[in-house]
Amino acid sequence: MPSPIGHSLIGLAIGVAAMPGETPGTPLPRRLFRRRWMLLGCMVVANLPDIDFIPGLLVGDMNAYHYNLTHSIGWAVLVGFGLWFLLRAVRPRTGLACLVLLLALLGSHLLADFWCEDRSPPYGMPIYWPLSNRWHTAERPLFMAMDKDTFRDVFTLANLPAALRELGIGLALCLGGLGVHYARRPSQGFR
Ligand SMILES: [Zn+2]
Repeated sequence: MPSPIGHSLIGLAIGVAAMPGETPGTPLPRRLFRRRWMLLGCMVVANLPDIDFIPGLLVGDMNAYHYNLTHSIGWAVLVGFGLWFLLRAVRPRTGLACLVLLLALLGSHLLADFWCEDRSPPYGMPIYWPLSNRWHTAERPLFMAMDKDTFRDVFTLANLPAALRELGIGLALCLGGLGVHYARRPSQGFR
């Protein structure tokens, strides 16, 4: 699986692409600062399926419960709708665009993990649950696996090439997201 670096940058790219258009000439830092909470939320939601690391951390093996049902389309849809209803309860003007954004963020996590090298069985994840319980993974991974048996392993030099690849892909996606944002008129985009 990509680390939080990769998932956060992918979430940021999606958030930037979804930001409402701004008046031409508005500096980029101001555009980003104005939407800081939205962008932060996008990065958090893009990491949400990895919540299954928490029980593993408690028993001393980060991977003990990883790559299970939180890495499935069924879970992503349930959580996407759950978060959307919660947001609507707090902010009744929350529209369908928000639901699409939430599903895109959760889906981005599944896609990134699907296209990541997996070194230990069962390979992949039950991405089609509840329609199928079979584990699936891409034949030609885009992201490299990281050592992460314990929290300490994550910060070893051996993980540097994988982290740099995530950084490169993530930043390229963010540039793409900026392209989408700049192509928007002020009235267009997520609200
Ligand atoms: Zn994951």
